[in-house]
Amino acid sequence: MDSISTHSYQDLDRRTLWHPYTRRSAVEAAPLPVIVRGEGVYLFDSEGRRYLDAISSWWACNLGHQHPRLIEAIARQARELQHSILGNLTHPRAIELAAMLVDLFPDDRRVMFASDGSCTVEAALKIALQYWWNRGQPAKHKFVALDFAYHGDTLGAVSVGYLPHFHQAFKPVLFPVYQAPSPCCGTCAFHESPDQCLNECFDTMRAIVREHAHELAAVIVEPLCQCSGGMRMHPAEHIRRLAKLCADYDVLLIADEIAVGYGRTGKMFACEHADVWPDIVCLGKGMSGGYLPISAAVVKASIHATFGDTPEDHTLYHGHTFTGNPIAAALAIETLRVYEDEHIVSRAAALGATLAAELAPLAAISGVRNVRSLGAIGVVELEDDAEGTGSRHAARVRDRLRAKGILLRPLGSVIYVMPPLVTPEPVLRELVGAVGAAIRAV
Ligand code: PMP
Repeated sequence: MDSISTHSYQDLDRRTLWHPYTRRSAVEAAPLPVIVRGEGVYLFDSEGRRYLDAISSWWACNLGHQHPRLIEAIARQARELQHSILGNLTHPRAIELAAMLVDLFPDDRRVMFASDGSCTVEAALKIALQYWWNRGQPAKHKFVALDFAYHGDTLGAVSVGYLPHFHQAFKPVLFPVYQAPSPCCGTCAFHESPDQCLNECFDTMRAIVREHAHELAAVIVEPLCQCSGGMRMHPAEHIRRLAKLCADYDVLLIADEIAVGYGRTGKMFACEHADVWPDIVCLGKGMSGGYLPISAAVVKASIHATFGDTPEDHTLYHGHTFTGNPIAAALAIETLRVYEDEHIVSRAAALGATLAAELAPLAAISGVRNVRSLGAIGVVELEDDAEGTGSRHAARVRDRLRAKGILLRPLGSVIYVMPPLVTPEPVLRELVGAVGAAIRAV
């Protein structure tokens, strides 16, 4: 693409397109790069510039770009059947994918498909609500969530994942949720140790669940790492305690593994670190290798069993046009096969070990508050203040890295990398080195 068409795209973009999570000033300040191609762990813009996709295109492209097997899976399926609904019909790809997903769990499950992660969170919340309704306990209709949680952008998901800086305008229409404090992985100024932090935060969670169990449908959490809320990492012990608490008080546990599932933490699911298998597990993002939207709520069969239609109608009246779309399902099947054949999860664990080692020295850089990692999620959090100095500093780091061909999107003062799980180790080392150099330079 020559530069004339780059300019005309950028011009048309400014006049027609509304960019998600993008400030007006950012669009107005400078034309946005026009990304025209992906290959491996890189994206290329219309001027031929190469960028390392260090955030896996919003944490979805775990297998990088242009994987030949995934491209072939799309073409093969598109030639056969592009769409057919799952309402009163079925099709092979949805069945095969559901069976493969159920096989990843140690217990019997049923799979409800959706498209984006937010839709799956909505489905999970509604399944939890209707489960108690089905069981004749409609009073159990409230949720507990953690502060700093993020579960998507639809209104139910925003109710349980309320982040004031994103969601304040919607507050009047959100449903009320009990909010428990999220442990801070030892970075906050209020606790002497990560253990003390975990204990104190969990005491509050326990008190909420004990007091309100009679009205609680479920607790929903992002296990081990609250990503959008600032890459806040929790020890596996947190989800272990939570699972026991929920079981003791007859409250469902929903794990939102949309960002942390599919190998990101060095295990297929983050909950595996604690050997916990929550009642409902939400999956998305990496499910189709980042090629097409598909998501799933993987639900314990005992919950599904209450959704009969005799003597009373307890059908789940929920679904989307593209629920279980065959092309997306074919991709998700091939993605799981690639995971198996290319040992993606163990590679992610190895990548995580390198990431942790490479990040450690960055803790000594002046202005760095904390360095942490979990599997292939690496974080350098900058010192911040009421004036947002750290966030501005992080934005300058982002701009500097972009000019050097690395794409990052810091969350305020939290600079993080979440590279494709297939990133070669030398590329990962270069990435962390470049992040360190940029922090020192700005
Ligand atoms: N839950 C978590 C933990 C997420 O990180 C996200 C997306 N960042 C979502 C839900 C929502 O997924 P989607 O953007 O696909 O709707």
